[in-house]
Amino acid sequence: MNKDKRIKILSLLRDENPTPETELVYGSTFELLIAVMLSAQATDVSVNKATTKLYKIANSPEAILNLGGKGLKNYIKTIGLFNTKAANIIKTCELLIKEHDSVVPDTRPELEALPGVGRKTANVVLNTAFGQPTMAVDTHIFRLSNRIRFAPGKTVRQVEDKLIKVIPDEFILDAHHWLILHGRYICTARNPKCGACVIYDLCEFKQKKRDL
Ligand code: SF4
Repeated sequence: MNKDKRIKILSLLRDENPTPETELVYGSTFELLIAVMLSAQATDVSVNKATTKLYKIANSPEAILNLGGKGLKNYIKTIGLFNTKAANIIKTCELLIKEHDSVVPDTRPELEALPGVGRKTANVVLNTAFGQPTMAVDTHIFRLSNRIRFAPGKTVRQVEDKLIKVIPDEFILDAHHWLILHGRYICTARNPKCGACVIYDLCEFKQKKRDL
């Protein structure tokens, strides 16, 4: 796909949704971090359901440690992999208190040093909370980037690097949200909704069909 097409696609997605936001509900950087940790292989809806109750009781590293592993699990047990996620959240809270004065750090190395925080989670926090030009590639962005030839790559990292390289500065902060929402709701894994797609004319997917 050429540069002009990419710019047109991003412009159309921007016109459709000028101020995109994550669908995770959060009120602080700490709440965002925990929500993103919980969202691995889970829907944003299921995470929001759990965190709405959790954050009323505990929305700081200290308060979550007060709950303890067992108490925390009670709030997140409806979310997949909750045992592992609870253990990682407890360790992350301990580390935040010990090494960061209970403040979520704003650098990739420090974030990725937290238990349960991988590159993707760090990318979301750096982008959404700290306004850094990072690109968290999830299943939707990976599929969309390859399917429409926007930024093809065999691995998640290849797609991430390509996206960072080809997306102009003016779009980079919000591109993550535009691509994720387009992949999640329009260019879905099965039966993409080509008939409702604002970038239909620019899309390079050979099997695209208006009547799908
Ligand atoms: S036209 Fe179809 S395949 Fe192409 S981006 Fe839109 S929904 Fe996806």
